[in-house]
Amino acid sequence: MTLVASSRRSFLRSAAVAGAVATAGFAQQSERRPNEENEVQLSQIHGPSEQKESTPGPFLPEDRRVGFAIVGLGRLSLNQILPAFGSSEYSKPVALVSGDRAKAAKIAAQYGINGSAIYGYANYEELAKNPEVKAIYIVLPNGMHEEYVVRGAKTGKHILCEKPMATSSKEAEHMITACKQAKVKLMIAYRQQYEPHNRALRQLVTEGKLGELRGFVSSNSQQEGDPAQWRLKRSLSGGGCLPDVGLYCLNAARFLSGEEPSEVMAQTWQPKDDLRFVEVEASCSFSLRFPSGYTATCTTSYDVHKSQFLRMEGTSAWAEMSPAFAYHGNKLKWSHLDGEHENEIAPQIEEKDQFALEMDHFAECILEGIEPKTPGEEGLRDHRVMEAIYESARTGKRVKL
Ligand code: NAD
Repeated sequence: MTLVASSRRSFLRSAAVAGAVATAGFAQQSERRPNEENEVQLSQIHGPSEQKESTPGPFLPEDRRVGFAIVGLGRLSLNQILPAFGSSEYSKPVALVSGDRAKAAKIAAQYGINGSAIYGYANYEELAKNPEVKAIYIVLPNGMHEEYVVRGAKTGKHILCEKPMATSSKEAEHMITACKQAKVKLMIAYRQQYEPHNRALRQLVTEGKLGELRGFVSSNSQQEGDPAQWRLKRSLSGGGCLPDVGLYCLNAARFLSGEEPSEVMAQTWQPKDDLRFVEVEASCSFSLRFPSGYTATCTTSYDVHKSQFLRMEGTSAWAEMSPAFAYHGNKLKWSHLDGEHENEIAPQIEEKDQFALEMDHFAECILEGIEPKTPGEEGLRDHRVMEAIYESARTGKRVKL
């Protein structure tokens, strides 16, 4: 199994590099990459005052990459996921599933996907007969995730599913059971858990740089337009801003601390005179209490100008990300007392395509037979907290988890 061995080396190398980035002054990756026997090393020609250039890779050759079928060709697939394959090391697109064959044929031609590997929703199960497809990536409206994960699992292919996992914890439980029964992996696409700045902040926390965590404040909001879109229809979305963008704040409060909340207090706002918010909330604010005494205070809205930030407060330092959940350009800084002076540090962290990192993690899990860092259970936990948030908003009471 040379493939797995070499891929494992590269992956472990990436993990080691990520650790190094987060620890030793956030050094450039190229300085720390060990020599790989199949990696071409080029000499540095610039002076020591210049940033060192890195040679990307080694990437897996086409025939050894994990083939993905992309299900749903909307904005996320076209604008982020398909282009991200260009930066991936272990993944490649090999099939498309769409209700619009002409659109799918155009996209297949753009990405070098065989025209015979285009499927409709009705014949989706025929993916089972395509040996090139090892993973199915569900990028459909939230209310369709359960059906397509369950049907997909029956094809025997591993499943990567967009967030939010479903529209309820009951659906999420069903999806986990179906994948277990079919003996296929299930990963939820929490891209921010694979994004280098978020990972660097997690590393600061695990190294104790912030001291004991006390507070987390975060917002993820945007202004929605078209009132006819599926995001504003409860059966397809499962809710308004909370499961769509507020979920980032909730997941970050849990992921970055490594703790699980024990109590929730929340309120929602649904204006009566706005066509966009007939079925779902426009805004939601919630606070989470964790057993250690750490608390998270979050707001999310579909009715404010785009705003994405988080701030973590610990007994010996604070850290801030703004933006925190963007596709590109996330920024991290943190501050602590150094001698007699407050030292604010904005580490240089190499930006990487987080969708490529996320898909490559899943590819790695398939190649190596390991479990994803964000399995179905991770999505289920968030659904249980979101249900508690809605219950608290409805009853006006604190809800225990
Ligand atoms: P979109 O509306 O742009 O695309 C949805 C696709 O599903 C379209 O191709 C549409 O034709 C198809 N579809 C099939 N049946 C449909 C139906 N009954 N109603 C509506 N569309 C139908 O949505 P999107 O922004 O690509 O979101 C898709 C999924 O990705 C959602 O689960 C969303 O939460 C998630 N998402 C994640 C991120 C992220 O950063 N990870 C960002 C955006 C969206």
